[in-house]
Amino acid sequence: MSNYRNSILSVAAAAAIGFGGLSLHATDASAQQRDILIGGGSVTGVYYQVALQTCQLVNKHSEGKYNCVGRPALGSVFNINAVNRGLLDFGVAQSDRNWQAANGSADWDGKAVGKLRSVFSAHPEAVLLVTRVDSGIKSVGDLKGKTVNIGNPGSGQRGNSMDFLPLYGIDPDKDIKAEGLQQGEASRALVDKKVDAFVYTVGMPSAAIEEPANSTKIDILDINSDAVKKFISDKPYYVLAKYPAGIVKDVGEFETYAVKATVVTSADVEDQVVYDYTKLVFENLDELKKTHAAFRILEPKDMLGGLSAPLHPGAVKYYKERGWM
Ligand code: GLU
Repeated sequence: MSNYRNSILSVAAAAAIGFGGLSLHATDASAQQRDILIGGGSVTGVYYQVALQTCQLVNKHSEGKYNCVGRPALGSVFNINAVNRGLLDFGVAQSDRNWQAANGSADWDGKAVGKLRSVFSAHPEAVLLVTRVDSGIKSVGDLKGKTVNIGNPGSGQRGNSMDFLPLYGIDPDKDIKAEGLQQGEASRALVDKKVDAFVYTVGMPSAAIEEPANSTKIDILDINSDAVKKFISDKPYYVLAKYPAGIVKDVGEFETYAVKATVVTSADVEDQVVYDYTKLVFENLDELKKTHAAFRILEPKDMLGGLSAPLHPGAVKYYKERGWM
């Protein structure tokens, strides 16, 4: 096991042992337990909730078989690469990155991640361009000359920024001052006027958007030009989505394109582990839906869609048992 995995899991074990009285039990059980490590995103986003809450279900309902740790991570691209290298058992990734990694394009140009496997898809995520109203930015074109957080390296939104900005004639290297902060910092930087706007591809609602909306006046701009519509038209993992006024405090209606959050793993992860994880999530879906508002709309029929990498055989076994395949 790598040092990365060891250090994360030992932190988790130490935390468990810290709650007095658990130490003996934890030591005994850990001999037979299989550790599961799931990578999410920023703590203010929704991926971290996917990792954390599905792990809670596993820990609660697997009768001590698993010790599942859901941890913050750098996002889609990081998670896919970490899963591929065996540093994570599961990771959360945007459906566009899932497709690109499986097919060898964008960040994986010419080097498809052959071992990438899909498990299920979760909540939808929109490509959000969030500005401070006093920045005077009213449309994507107004970003010229401004400081814009385009997403940290390893995030899914960074690639979305690199795609749509040029469709509005903006060269991210020359026409804006591009920042690569992680989202927790980016939301604060918007309020503190250190950036004028940020791009975040995220489910609704998320603390990353709610917090700045409660601290300053923000806007979320349309990303729906004809060039954008043409760009997404031949890509099955993108849909145009309209959001009603008030979905975020004091923000009017906006239209942008959206993806789905997907849970991925590697062909190297044992069938039994993926089967058990999948089963525990679906058999306790009602419980999961109550843990975060973005999960309320999750339905099995949607959760088997939007997956580009082949399904893991452990997941297939469960879906066949349920008659969903
Ligand atoms: N879509 C973002 C990414 O791929 C993460 C969003 C979240 O953490 O909820 O990096």
